[in-house]
Amino acid sequence: MKAAPEAQKRLLDLADLDSVVDRLAHRRRTLPELVEIDEQSKRYAKLVTDVIEAETQAGDLARDQAKAENDVEAVRSRADRDQKRLDSGAVSSPRDLASLQSEIASLQKRQGDLEEVVLEIMERREAADTKVVDLVAQRDEIAATRAAAEDRRDALLAEIDKEAGEVQAQRAAVVGDIPADLLTLYTKLKDQYSVGAAMLRGGRCQGCKVALSIAEMNRIKAAPHDEVLRCEECRRILVRTPESGL
Ligand SMILES: [Zn+2]
Repeated sequence: MKAAPEAQKRLLDLADLDSVVDRLAHRRRTLPELVEIDEQSKRYAKLVTDVIEAETQAGDLARDQAKAENDVEAVRSRADRDQKRLDSGAVSSPRDLASLQSEIASLQKRQGDLEEVVLEIMERREAADTKVVDLVAQRDEIAATRAAAEDRRDALLAEIDKEAGEVQAQRAAVVGDIPADLLTLYTKLKDQYSVGAAMLRGGRCQGCKVALSIAEMNRIKAAPHDEVLRCEECRRILVRTPESGL
């Protein structure tokens, strides 16, 4: 392949710009914020589940408490009714009186037991409510931390995109100076080896850093200026410059 030495030198500008493009793409993929956001999202999802679970538990206990309080109330009103009957003097037979008194005593005992149950549920409910508040606070804190990380990520991506846009504009200008067949070869080699063209500097290929043999250097010296050369070692396009050591 033949190409004007100036066009060949433009390949080096292109390779420099492409390395910037690659670096920016790599930076875009490996922002620490991405890992951070991912971890925070997992913690957030776990806390959302934990909050729902704790709220369900607190709700169940609230229902249990209401039910236990109703039970207390039912027993209390029955004892009150019995007490009123007793006080009214309507019951006169000693056997009925004894039975009524015994029922009142057993209802009072039952009321005491049920009040114990209410207290025990209230304590558990208080703990459950505290847990809900605590988990909601943790969940909201993670949400805020994640939102801040997302803002940082977006700012960094905007910065990277701006730089990438500038590089692409420069790249388009360089590409305009390179003949189509040379550009096709460069692109193919870049796809294959990640870098498509390298400078020959001081007798060394800057692509693979291998020093060329004397025979190879002689072959290059004898080659026409517009000949497109390839590194024997890494197969990249080898571009001659005044620094090549020829
Ligand atoms: Zn090489």
